[in-house]
Amino acid sequence: MTNDWTSAAGRDLMSLGGRLANLERGEGSHVWDVEGTRYLDFLGGIAVNSLGHAHPVFVEAVSRQAARLAHVSNYFASPQQLELAARLKRLAGTGDRGRVFLANSGTEANETAMKLARLHGGRSGRTTILSLEGAFHGRSMGALSITPKAAYQDPFAPLVPGTKSVARTIAALEEAFAGGDIAAIFIEPIQGEAGVVELPEGFLRRARELATAHDALLIVDEVQTGSGRTGEWFAFQREGITPDALTFAKAVGAGFPLGGMITFGDASDLFYPGTHNSTFGGNPLASAVANAVLEHIETAGVLQNVTARGAELREAVSGLPLVASTRGAGLLIGIVLERPVAADVASEAFRRGLVVNAPAPDVIRLAPAYTIGDDEIAEFLDLFGQALDAVAAAQTQETPA
Ligand SMILES: *Cc1c(COP(=O)(O)O)cnc(C)c1O
Repeated sequence: MTNDWTSAAGRDLMSLGGRLANLERGEGSHVWDVEGTRYLDFLGGIAVNSLGHAHPVFVEAVSRQAARLAHVSNYFASPQQLELAARLKRLAGTGDRGRVFLANSGTEANETAMKLARLHGGRSGRTTILSLEGAFHGRSMGALSITPKAAYQDPFAPLVPGTKSVARTIAALEEAFAGGDIAAIFIEPIQGEAGVVELPEGFLRRARELATAHDALLIVDEVQTGSGRTGEWFAFQREGITPDALTFAKAVGAGFPLGGMITFGDASDLFYPGTHNSTFGGNPLASAVANAVLEHIETAGVLQNVTARGAELREAVSGLPLVASTRGAGLLIGIVLERPVAADVASEAFRRGLVVNAPAPDVIRLAPAYTIGDDEIAEFLDLFGQALDAVAAAQTQETPA
């Protein structure tokens, strides 16, 4: 095996483009490719590997449950699944009336929430599902229809009807609701794929007021921000609001595929038996892993580490060349560059053994393991600093005084 993605083996995979290396092993915050090159992983499988790679808690949970009962289909409950539902309700703060639907990915979670919006709209006579400019909710036909990005949507037209996007300002939001017909609005508390873009101050609170006033559902997509990534269990919790539903995935399974939806209050009564299901969703294996991951995060002080290390990283990168500012929360960090050279910075970093990515032309995203410590931060600053220096030097050469 080699790292050559133009090889025949590489062409067997249909998800094209941008593959950086052929990775075969991981431990903590490091991964190794098939040629033995070691990388510091500060992308964390796109905000997934909350405990890093091959964490003992993860390994033990997978092994123990795989040897006991892995899958039984959605005809049956399992103690692991019931425990996970109760745990997620408690962490999200739903109270008794909350309910949980378990699925396998963020996209599938959002499809579920779109169906929730349709059920709600069916009662209120409203059809439009709103999403925000810059949003990312997934790539299946429904989720794609609320992901207003031409490059993603245009080849797949026509999209699901009754979907509409709105600018990320409170004025635009008010105008959209004033037009009527809104069944639900989907909001990411921080738009990860757009480049770790924060909402304007008070936006989520205003969205809550408007959704309530117009009998629409407020659905927060916490696929990237949830499960502890921002230092809270869910990012909406720092805004002091209650959504009608939230979707989660990514970090909750720490690398094991699991996602789902949590409903609050009246929205918990919309689905009824026969209206939705998933064969794999919440099987005992996935549920056992999520239980172990969440329990470890809760009992080992991991969220405090997320908050502290996030602040430390943002402070430390602020003085580096080309860095204009930082944004995000906890360990979901966007480093905004002075120029649109993020792709160059990411590839210079990769050549030096550091994995980060560039979700926008001028933004580097960090989403490392929640468990990073002094050593990982020191190594990151060394490698990232070198990458920035290299790009800054190349730019100086291009523009002689
Ligand atoms: C990644 C992501 C999704 C899609 O999740 P998948 O697990 O890739 O299907 C949806 N919403 C947000 C906010 C995401 O970051």
